[in-house]
Amino acid sequence: MPCAKRGSLLGEAEVATLAELVQGEDPLSMGGWRNRFERAFAQLVGARYAMTATSGTVALELAIQLLDLEPGDEVIATPQTYQATVMPLLDREVTVRFCDIDPTTLNIAPAAVEALITPRTKALVLVHYGGCPAEMDEIMAVARRHGILVVEDCAHALGADYRGRRPGSLADVGCFSFQNAKNITTLGEGGMVTFDRDDWAVRLERLRGNDVDAEFEPEERIDPDEPLVLPWMKYSAAVYSDRVTRIRRAGTNATMSEAAAAVGLTQLGRLDTLQGTRRSVAARLDAVLRRYAWVRPQQAPAHSTHAYHLYTCFADSRGLRDQLLLALDRRGVEIQLRYFPQHLTPEWRHRGHGRGECPVAESMWFDQHLNLPCHPGLRPSQVDYLVEALDESLAEVQAMAEGTAAPTPGAALAAG
Ligand SMILES: *Cc1c(COP(=O)(O)O)cnc(C)c1O
Repeated sequence: MPCAKRGSLLGEAEVATLAELVQGEDPLSMGGWRNRFERAFAQLVGARYAMTATSGTVALELAIQLLDLEPGDEVIATPQTYQATVMPLLDREVTVRFCDIDPTTLNIAPAAVEALITPRTKALVLVHYGGCPAEMDEIMAVARRHGILVVEDCAHALGADYRGRRPGSLADVGCFSFQNAKNITTLGEGGMVTFDRDDWAVRLERLRGNDVDAEFEPEERIDPDEPLVLPWMKYSAAVYSDRVTRIRRAGTNATMSEAAAAVGLTQLGRLDTLQGTRRSVAARLDAVLRRYAWVRPQQAPAHSTHAYHLYTCFADSRGLRDQLLLALDRRGVEIQLRYFPQHLTPEWRHRGHGRGECPVAESMWFDQHLNLPCHPGLRPSQVDYLVEALDESLAEVQAMAEGTAAPTPGAALAAG
């Protein structure tokens, strides 16, 4: 009963796409597949621009570069996420204010955002945890009122829906990951940045293409009378250079390969099927949990669709949660818990953060939080086994808590 070795399934369609690419004459970089993948993705998400990058991490780094953060600026961020969401902020001289989360969704609590805003607040970085959409209407209303830019980490949220719109189009900029474990994959690694702004498209094209993110004066013509040998010869005698007035940052090469983009486009065509499988596994787990009063699943907002990158549930106490973990483990159900609150990691503690900063995030993680396997790679027989093992584990822990059963050897119940 293993956890996801892969988050998405690759099959004949992807093999055929790759065969076409390998056997054809088209270049393996900077070609048509990347553009097609980006156009299809932009259309799906409902953003004007979708620009690929080599990973979700790089997508986030590039997106955060677009915010023009200055030393002394403040950024509000979620603590309940993978480290890549907030890592780019560690590199900048900005103050991060970790915002507490909602205990039903694990997403940033809109009511907690307002209290953290100061005149220096420049941006907010959030995640749609596990694929459960954050309450974007409320968050964006606060952000707009205070002129704050919002980054959506959508690494889990491909396939989610919020009031008929898609994550990646709900804030100023969205970042996706196509890493091996995510809802679709571009051969193991890949990412995407989505947004609407034309000026950001120009900057991002430079940043990811080994150019500089800079401001320029108009072209300086060394010899206005000398014609260009060829029209595209920018650095010729006639046009020597654009004059840089300000360098924001040097660019990098974040070009997605044609093979990755081709697989990404093929995977996008299978998204509905893959998501259907995730939803059906989640529905069966929900049905089991409903039989026990002391556990409940993460609850997506009523007007939204969960993308079920992760299936998350909560127990009423640490004792019950720990016993449930042990009971599932004894049945060979492999559990991966995601994620240790970021403000308690060594690097953020080094920056002055620590216990007590986000009490809800801390108590959810330490006392209640549990993730169960939920991905399209599970065979039907494995889903059956998982459902049965979950039901048995819950019954066993409940009987122990009620004192109607002898504790399983080696499993002492810490609290009821
Ligand atoms: C996976 C993930 C990332 C990073 O994506 P990579 O493609 O692995 O670099 C960022 N944020 C979250 C929430 C993730 O789960």
